[in-house]
Amino acid sequence: RLQQRIHGTTLEINLNALTHNFNFYKRQLRPGTKVMVMVKAFAYGGGAAEIANHIQTMGADYLAVAFSDEGVALRKQGIRLPIMVLNPVEESFDLIREYALEPVVFSLDFFKKIGQYAQNHQTQLSIHLDLDTGMHRLGFEAKHISALKPLLKEFPELRIASFYTHLVGADEEIHHDFSISQLNLFQEMKSQIEAELDYKPLVHALNSAGIVRFPDYQMDMVRLGIGLYGVEVTGKFDSSLRPVSTLKTTISQIKDLPPGATVGYSRKGVLPNGGKIGTLAIGYADGYDRRFSQGKGYVLIHGKKAPVIGNVCMDMTMVDLSEIPEVREGDEAIIYGEQISLKELADRIGTIPYELLTNISTRVKRVYY
Ligand code: PLP
Repeated sequence: RLQQRIHGTTLEINLNALTHNFNFYKRQLRPGTKVMVMVKAFAYGGGAAEIANHIQTMGADYLAVAFSDEGVALRKQGIRLPIMVLNPVEESFDLIREYALEPVVFSLDFFKKIGQYAQNHQTQLSIHLDLDTGMHRLGFEAKHISALKPLLKEFPELRIASFYTHLVGADEEIHHDFSISQLNLFQEMKSQIEAELDYKPLVHALNSAGIVRFPDYQMDMVRLGIGLYGVEVTGKFDSSLRPVSTLKTTISQIKDLPPGATVGYSRKGVLPNGGKIGTLAIGYADGYDRRFSQGKGYVLIHGKKAPVIGNVCMDMTMVDLSEIPEVREGDEAIIYGEQISLKELADRIGTIPYELLTNISTRVKRVYY
């Protein structure tokens, strides 16, 4: 409460809801299937160290971050789980070694570079091979496998901890057949590489939506992201998950404006009949998307809808309070949480819940309960 008074806006993270969601996904899995939790991008905005710490105690098997520095930060916070780094760069090899991170290797060139590094330092490194089956972002394509085979022998210092691929549209029914073809190509590609090894790396392909849609392809591990944070992107199990984060702010000032008054920059909010407006202590610099301007977004105050009026400012947003006579300065406004779903908000401005979650800026205090 004190924090909310100081900054005005807080992101409340419900760790019980996180546990609930983790257990929901665990129940979809065969008993032996491992779970890698995606804590990249500050754990989808929720706070990487706190969330990693919580799921470490809940029995997650692996973590994944996008960049090496995200992994280093977790290690410095005492996180001991293995950490896969999706998009490492050569300049971070020392950090990878020092902090026992596990880089993804996605090209022949990168394989040679990291192999050479491991040889020069006479060290073993655990790596993960990204197999591109249709995402066409990073990863080895089928045509690269014959050239990869000799490299596996040339650099025995590199231990393949896992093979993985990523589905382009696991959340959408229209991509069902493409997903299946990706999964089949993946099995084929990984078998060819595996035949060269005298050990068995872990194999994984499914993200949150994939876990729901493709239960037959759990393989050794799944990679859980958005679902853990309370958003069920396929819509199949919407009511089985609990929202994890609630973004809240406060009303700094209330004004009664005369007929014809305009609100905010560029006079975009117009009140032909006048009315009561409130100024919220949140703006686009906090991650409240400017596309919510001019009625696209709304907040909940005393459980009632207050539409955004005018343009969202950097640190403030004005809302129409004409339907909420009981409102007072200092009252709380809910941006999203139990009563306003991220999916609905994201739809309103043509984006996805992932973007809303990861855009909450670091100046917004995270509060855990
Ligand atoms: N695996 C990879 C390679 C990813 O990039 C991501 C997220 O973008 C995930 C898994 C998790 O996806 P989701 O958050 O949809 O569960």
